[in-house]
Amino acid sequence: MENSVQSGHGPFHNVSVTSQPAGKWSSGMARLLIIEDESDLRQVLGYNLTQAGHEALTAETGAIGLRLAREQRPDLVLLDLMLPDLSGTDICRMLKEGADTKEIPIIMLTARGEEVDRVVGFELGADDYVTKPFSVRELMLRIQAVLRRAGAPDGTKTDVVEFGCLRVDRDAHRIWVGDTEVELTALEFKLLLTLYDRRNRVQTRSALLDDVWGIQADITTRTVDTHVKRLREKLDKARDYVETVRGVGYRFVGSPDEAGA
Ligand code: CA
Repeated sequence: MENSVQSGHGPFHNVSVTSQPAGKWSSGMARLLIIEDESDLRQVLGYNLTQAGHEALTAETGAIGLRLAREQRPDLVLLDLMLPDLSGTDICRMLKEGADTKEIPIIMLTARGEEVDRVVGFELGADDYVTKPFSVRELMLRIQAVLRRAGAPDGTKTDVVEFGCLRVDRDAHRIWVGDTEVELTALEFKLLLTLYDRRNRVQTRSALLDDVWGIQADITTRTVDTHVKRLREKLDKARDYVETVRGVGYRFVGSPDEAGA
């Protein structure tokens, strides 16, 4: 059975939301944000995403959507182009300009006659689009493809991470600050990625010991301080991305702008 979603007209009596097998295709839970002013469509999408094992955040206006995107950092945004307050292309531009949000993939939900907006959206960095009316199943497949390309959230993360002046190639175990490659030991690399992957959250010294060093009797929390100090020296102008939280541990900043503030 095909799930069909109509755009704009009348009630959704004929919308079936039961034929999507729950969790069948999802290899990991993603957090998705739906920015869509049509409440029926919002609900259908939210329902299907939840059934597929994802977390669905919904926003009925562009302003709410922008706020949620910045606060919740979803893995993907479904973005309607025609919203009551802001245009989808404006939202797309703002998300792609934000240090915290520029990596979030965007799928545009467009209507016929919005080709120009769609082209603008692509120029601004949107990843894909579907034209209303679309089938929920088609959208789900596109979501899956975009999530897979983005590498989130099933552990096969994007190989190259960019954060301010810092660039990290996870697979190759190489990092650059600006254009300069920095040599890290395997342990420093692991320490950096552990902090980065939990950015904006304080990591205690003992948690870092467990996660980076593994449990060893002969090292103390002072070891963590020594290594963080050395890591910071090597990071040069990216050093402020790793903050000391006095008496607790360390924290990788939530966005590059925060560093040194
Ligand atoms: Ca709309």
